[in-house]
Amino acid sequence: LRQRERLGVIGDPIGHSLSPIMHRAALDDAGLEWTYDAHLVPVGSLGAWMRSTGRDMRGFNATIPHKVALLDHVESVDRAARTIGAVNTVVREAGGFRGFNTDPAGFRAALAGLDFDQSGALIVVFGAGGAARSVVYALRPFVSRIVVVNRDVGRARTLEAADASLALDDGDLRPLVREADLLVNATPMGMSHLADASPLPAGTELRPEAVVMDLVYGRVTPFLATALQWGCRCTDGLEMLVQQGAESFRLWTRREPNIEAMRSALESISRAGAVPASGDAGR
Ligand code: NAP
Repeated sequence: LRQRERLGVIGDPIGHSLSPIMHRAALDDAGLEWTYDAHLVPVGSLGAWMRSTGRDMRGFNATIPHKVALLDHVESVDRAARTIGAVNTVVREAGGFRGFNTDPAGFRAALAGLDFDQSGALIVVFGAGGAARSVVYALRPFVSRIVVVNRDVGRARTLEAADASLALDDGDLRPLVREADLLVNATPMGMSHLADASPLPAGTELRPEAVVMDLVYGRVTPFLATALQWGCRCTDGLEMLVQQGAESFRLWTRREPNIEAMRSALESISRAGAVPASGDAGR
């Protein structure tokens, strides 16, 4: 490994990104004097950025609006990125840049911490964007029934790996979630400008044995509040964020990161509305 490689994250906006804090903690712990910086790259400037600043980097993460466009700017992509249709991690290899998507691995690792029995499970995934696609990709080999629920049901139907789709306002949603073994919120409902929104219908009943994961992180969303009220095991998206970052770190450095160092770096700044200990399994 070279002494001082450069890593980073690109997006627009990018000021809010927690990735620099998390990855600097991991690099520090590993004794690597590498850098990890946030780069503001406007839509339309991706190619130019990759030919200039990006060219000398060991690798980088990508967030909105570049995850899909990157597919056309790298020399090769791994199976997850190709199937999901989005790249969140780029690695400079001998043959050029290679695109990966570490969200499925991050989701699987976060779920493993919740002690979820996948056999014969009924899964309800809210959302049909990149995050929902990663969740379905991660679960498909292990579970028997996945239902995708989305505001735009036409978009939900494009997730061919799912078994069924439903509109968010469909009357059949209430009985479906009452039977679900795992529910995942992969929409922004519950975050910032949608802080009071939940994908669950009013008066939802959940099985206390159900496992519930919100990909939104750093607060008890209305989705998680319902899960806690029914006594479900649940977690927010912080653990997935840490675990997808850990997978990126492995790809760049070929080393195992100190996940606890990454987690505590994030927790120290993002936990204003922390998830109560009962819902914190796996952390
Ligand atoms: P995306 O590709 O833009 O997809 C957004 C999804 O949310 C779509 O299904 C969209 O429905 C739905 N949606 C958006 N606004 C909505 C609203 N007001 N009411 C109902 N549904 C709405 O975004 P993404 O990349 O999949 O990310 C989704 C969420 O996951 C974000 O909150 C993101 O921060 C989070 N995330 C977390 C992690 C993690 O590591 N914890 C990783 C990735 C993503 P339509 O199709 O009907 O527009």
